[in-house]
Amino acid sequence: MRHPADGNDATRRGALRWVAGLSVGAFALPVVAQERRPEIVQPGTPGRKGLMARAFEMQRLATERGDQAFGAVVVRDGQVVGEGVSGVLTTPDPTAHGEIQAIRDAARRLGTARLAGCELYTTFRPCPMCETAAYWAGIARIFHGEAIVDAGVPRLPRC
Ligand SMILES: [Zn+2]
Repeated sequence: MRHPADGNDATRRGALRWVAGLSVGAFALPVVAQERRPEIVQPGTPGRKGLMARAFEMQRLATERGDQAFGAVVVRDGQVVGEGVSGVLTTPDPTAHGEIQAIRDAARRLGTARLAGCELYTTFRPCPMCETAAYWAGIARIFHGEAIVDAGVPRLPRC
């Protein structure tokens, strides 16, 4: 099986189905939400919906550029302070995930490596590398996906 980072959303969906196929007995993992059509929300809409819409705008830019379909933004006090478009294929850089790009952009713009109090909005559940980067940056909270899932405070994944 290919690593999920090797492909686009369709590949990731395939990976999720593959994982779901590993279910034990009757405890099948549900494969939902990924197939749902996104609600049309314009960037600039107040609140979390508008902020996540901006992350999806970054995702759209990524696909327009021929990259993986992921985008993210870093937010401080309700304002976008960092934007990230996946650059894995076009840079090329295997670490240029949308979240990493957004964190780097925010650090550049704010002139600090400490993004305490900032929130990360990302179009897909962050991988361990990106969650770790958010942890080291001091990001306060992560939200992901169309449903704006609150993933809480970034944690260091267990090795
Ligand atoms: Zn990542």
